[in-house]
Amino acid sequence: MRAWLLKEQDKIENRPLELVKIPDPKPGRKDIIIEVKAVGICRTDLHVAEGDLPMHKSLLILGHEVAGIVREVGSEVGKFQIGDRVGIAWLNSTCGRCEFCLSGRENLCPKASFTGWDVDGGFAELAKISQEFAYALPDDIPFQECAPLMCPGIAGYRSYALTGVGEGMKLGLYGFGITGTYVIQIAQRLGVEVFVVTRSEMNKEEARRLGASWVGGYDDTFPVKLDAAIIFPAVGELVPIALKHIKAGGRLILAPVTMTPIVIEDFNLVWGEREIKSLAHITRGDGDGLIELAKQKRFETRVETFPFEDLLDAMIRVKRGEVNGNAVIIL
Ligand SMILES: [Zn+2]
Ligand SMILES: [Zn+2]
Repeated sequence: MRAWLLKEQDKIENRPLELVKIPDPKPGRKDIIIEVKAVGICRTDLHVAEGDLPMHKSLLILGHEVAGIVREVGSEVGKFQIGDRVGIAWLNSTCGRCEFCLSGRENLCPKASFTGWDVDGGFAELAKISQEFAYALPDDIPFQECAPLMCPGIAGYRSYALTGVGEGMKLGLYGFGITGTYVIQIAQRLGVEVFVVTRSEMNKEEARRLGASWVGGYDDTFPVKLDAAIIFPAVGELVPIALKHIKAGGRLILAPVTMTPIVIEDFNLVWGEREIKSLAHITRGDGDGLIELAKQKRFETRVETFPFEDLLDAMIRVKRGEVNGNAVIIL
């Protein structure tokens, strides 16, 4: 098969990925081999390629927003058949035995492995995954829209779920990137009002179009007190600002994987049982929940597609913020 291999981490402009021919992956007893039809490019791919995240495997295939068709199954696979539409997400395996795995918190499993980081991902013609960690994809959603469901979609689902908000409540979003577009659509379906602050005029427009009750910039003040809020930018200074707008008993979710320092000088900001919770990875339950919602009503998704051969150029454009919506490689 043809695959893009990361040999040594380097700035993406220096083109650290190389398109090569390598042997096809062979399924273990419980694995499926997927013919990749679409694979999204994520900022995380850039972080691994450029060395912001350590290299966990040499000669790595990146890509964890994979959608395709089952091409081959291992001898003990019962969940999928050849020809099924399937997806692969960030969570690739867990130990299944630790206290986190046994209590529905497999996202915290210390032995979890992640697609396109610990094990090969989907920037290739074929990808391998255990049947237990593959998702059955709905028939009526094009592959190019299924791919972003696998990362920003599931991350949006989890960040929304962590807020604990329900019908009639008010949710604030700091930043409105791709994940935010899923959060607002989930909240709308569940009767939650969404208030958005974002810098970009394009994202403001998008938030209004998707039904935000109010949209402002970072210097604006939310017109209401919020039941919960999610911060997407990796900016620690937003934490005390966000807390000011959250009601007593409300919750603040920190969605980034890392943030600049957080300083909370005034205890009153957390008084009243206000909670701050970070988000770490995803569970398969999040993926199932998101796909269930996608089946009920298709999510609106902006996608810009690129041919497989143009992956590096597409990654450079993602880095520069030149892609409007999801960058998805089509095979
Ligand atoms: Zn991702
Ligand atoms: Zn575990």
